[in-house]
Amino acid sequence: MFGSAVTALKDAKEVAKDVGDIELKEKIGTAYDTLLELKVRLYEVDDENRRLKRALEDQTKYTDPLPPFGYVYRTDDAEHKNPLCPRCYQNTPQKIGFLKAPHKAPTGVFRHCPVCSTNVPETTPTRPPMTNKKVTPYWE
Ligand SMILES: [Zn+2]
Repeated sequence: MFGSAVTALKDAKEVAKDVGDIELKEKIGTAYDTLLELKVRLYEVDDENRRLKRALEDQTKYTDPLPPFGYVYRTDDAEHKNPLCPRCYQNTPQKIGFLKAPHKAPTGVFRHCPVCSTNVPETTPTRPPMTNKKVTPYWE
């Protein structure tokens, strides 16, 4: 598309040169420069589009926070057996740590994260559950 537009402008520039119209030649030059700027902008928008598509694909690999504990799961974990560590999930950059099975302690029930070595209390959140947006974890 850009190639044929450039060719057409070059042809027009030659015609303008042949007829000796300097003003027309300058206007064609301006159109040519604008076309090249548009081409650069198109590449930039295309790059951004690819980046956003990748980010969207990454996001759809995980569920939203689910009750009763507000854990996030991989979408291929249909039975929700392996919750992700909320602290790692909310970290920047995001990490993926699978919580160990729940264990009872005198102060409650916890799940251990082998990635960040946190014992996540297994309680119903009193604040809104975690999201992909940056929020303060409820246990802090
Ligand atoms: Zn963790």
